[in-house]
Amino acid sequence: MSAPGRSQAIELRGVTRRFGEGDAPAVRGFSLQVPHGALTTLLGPSGCGKTSVLRLMAGLDRPSEGEILMDGTEVSALGPEHRHIGMVFQNDALFPHLDVLGNIAFGLKTMGVSETSCRERALVALATVGLADMAARAWTELSGGQRQRVALARALVIEPRVLLLDEPLSNLDSRLRRGMREEIRGLQQRLNLTVVYVTHDQVEAMAVSDQVVLMRESRLVQVGTPRELYTRPVDDEAASFMGEASIVEARVQAPGELSLCGVVLRGLSAEVERAVAASRPGQALRLLIRPEAWRIQGASGAGLPGKVLSRAYLGRVAEYLVEMPWGDLWVSALGDPGLLEAGAPVSLSLGRFGVSVLDPPRDTGLDVSAADERRRQA
Ligand code: ATP
Repeated sequence: MSAPGRSQAIELRGVTRRFGEGDAPAVRGFSLQVPHGALTTLLGPSGCGKTSVLRLMAGLDRPSEGEILMDGTEVSALGPEHRHIGMVFQNDALFPHLDVLGNIAFGLKTMGVSETSCRERALVALATVGLADMAARAWTELSGGQRQRVALARALVIEPRVLLLDEPLSNLDSRLRRGMREEIRGLQQRLNLTVVYVTHDQVEAMAVSDQVVLMRESRLVQVGTPRELYTRPVDDEAASFMGEASIVEARVQAPGELSLCGVVLRGLSAEVERAVAASRPGQALRLLIRPEAWRIQGASGAGLPGKVLSRAYLGRVAEYLVEMPWGDLWVSALGDPGLLEAGAPVSLSLGRFGVSVLDPPRDTGLDVSAADERRRQA
């Protein structure tokens, strides 16, 4: 992304926003760099402060503390009219008395652009979102997806320094959402736009982003690429937010040998092997295991014994909820490895991908196999 020292499209430095005395701040101590030409998503559960951050970036709201910079210049006290930002919100409404072209040209007109130029630029923006033949349509004659595209064209036509999108796909059905998110990503890359995109949907964030900003309770929790957040979550909650996760404690039982519930794990990724090699026998390693890491077989396999609790056949993958000694976990198997039914005893083994070490090696004196043994005896 941005080279060190280069100014960022937007930078937030220690930004806090409080609405009322005694209320918890909507945004706390938020520091973030939004690089040029990249798509940054603000991701987090409802109420964590995503829209508040976006409004601060847009100039629709002012920080209680901290600074906001655009291209290296402080803009904290400037309103939206001085920031040249394009915005698309969920439920973005168009002006019902104007046709599609009129809606797109509206922003340019208020900026004092000539009638001819307004029309030309609006037509280009309409073509950019693939609706060139819909210039004369009324708002009521558009589908949900087309309305969102018009809203996008309206934001793009002013050639904004930054495009802010607040849950732009929330009203669309899942198929349309997927198509639209690909279109937005395609446009962003083709036009080299700087985009900040708000979503609470982790899959959407991973699909479109260069940089994901994970938020929780008004704070920034972690910033990184989708892969970094998925494979190197900063804590257990981040691990679970980024996808189904099981977190287990395995033990180095002999030099270079990692065991879980008394079964030695083999064929692990280089990262796990390195962590095992760096640990002393007796040390515990916390592993983050994603559903796709497991291989599932009938009970005759030599892996970890478990029992299928339920199965969902999804076509491309089958998902199994499996009861293991340390708790239930999800296994995602590509294709259908033989339709193991609920109640079937199974054997799980770990593949090379989808497993990471959560913390540096440490000795907790607790092994899942020992804990399980203690539970059995109790
Ligand atoms: P969602 O995904 O549900 O839209 P969000 O992550 O965008 O949520 P925000 O809308 O930024 O969250 O809200 C963060 C917190 O700030 C919430 O507790 C909200 O109630 C509070 N808040 C937001 N705007 C105001 C306001 N104008 N006055 C008082 N509190 C506010």
